Amino acid sequence: MTDPTPDSPLAAATVAVTAGRPPHEPDNPLNTPLTLASTYVAGGEMEYGRYGNPTWAAFEDALGQLEGGRALAFSSGLAAVDTLLSLVTNGETVVAPRHCYLGTLAQLADLEQRGRAVVRLVDITDTAAVVAACDDAALLWLESPTNPAMEVADIEAISAGAHEAGVPVVVDNTFATPILQRPLSIGADIVLHSATKYLAGHSDVLLGAVVTRDDAVYDAVDQRRRRVGAVPGPLETYLALRGMRTLHLRVERAQSNAKEIAHRLADHPAVEETRYPGFGGMIAIVVRGGAEAADALTRGTSLWVHATSLGGVESTFERRRRWAGEPESIPEGLVRMSVGIEDVEDLWNDLEKALAQ
Ligand SMILES: *Cc1c(COP(=O)(O)O)cnc(C)c1O
Repeated sequence: MTDPTPDSPLAAATVAVTAGRPPHEPDNPLNTPLTLASTYVAGGEMEYGRYGNPTWAAFEDALGQLEGGRALAFSSGLAAVDTLLSLVTNGETVVAPRHCYLGTLAQLADLEQRGRAVVRLVDITDTAAVVAACDDAALLWLESPTNPAMEVADIEAISAGAHEAGVPVVVDNTFATPILQRPLSIGADIVLHSATKYLAGHSDVLLGAVVTRDDAVYDAVDQRRRRVGAVPGPLETYLALRGMRTLHLRVERAQSNAKEIAHRLADHPAVEETRYPGFGGMIAIVVRGGAEAADALTRGTSLWVHATSLGGVESTFERRRRWAGEPESIPEGLVRMSVGIEDVEDLWNDLEKALAQ
């Protein structure tokens, strides 16, 4: 669990429960209501539904406090990625992980193809190489742990090196969540979330977010969101905020389940390799027997659901190379596992039965 920081005297568990609520006044509801509005009476700050919404604001307030910055919500994680990458112009260089969320890699490849950016792919576990690649770059993109390779970056050391080269640092914090890692507190400039995953946490919402302490970045991202309209629906932010009330409990339970399951998988004869960074609810395993064996595993369980996405209360898994966009350096037999909050022995029994086949 993250400790209080100078900018937030309260622990993350308290912030998750209390932030983004109406003032404690008689007859106020305890929860910020769901406001469905495309327009507002003129003369105020919001004016129009593409510019602001009180339910977004409550979600943004809570996430901002959790990450230690100011948040802006987007219609999806990829809409937030697109908005940040659109701030890079005129063929400038972006340094990015060679393994990270495939939708991010696809956007980078697309920018490069159109001559909008030059992309330098790096191994984020090699701090010196990442910092060296920042020379003349406009932006450093990190994701840690990476999806689905489960690599971990030294965000603090890399950010210090990138800043020496004058390069701002983005961290996709989707896997760790602010409960386990707060990149802004250790030097990163911008945090990105697919709030679709752990933040909302119940596999029923698509939502993204950007968080920063830098007012110029905040304004640029806000302007871009207004212009392009990659805005969330109010219901999505309502559900995500409701989900975030239990973020700390879900992350703690998923993590304790994942630790135990990763430990047992490491000794299992059907598993060639177990990748678990020691924290969080995500595991990747490489199954012996390649794609066929991995596919058989994903068909062989009854509790674990074969599905893409991650970070829900329920345990899900999938063979990532079934997607054409996944880099070839991700093994064919790699199964990404999102460990849920069920009983750990039930999860293990289900998995073990499928692995035995
Ligand atoms: C899912 C994901 C995204 C994209 O988010 P969407 O909400 O699906 O658009 C970005 N980064 C990571 C690490 C993800 O897992």
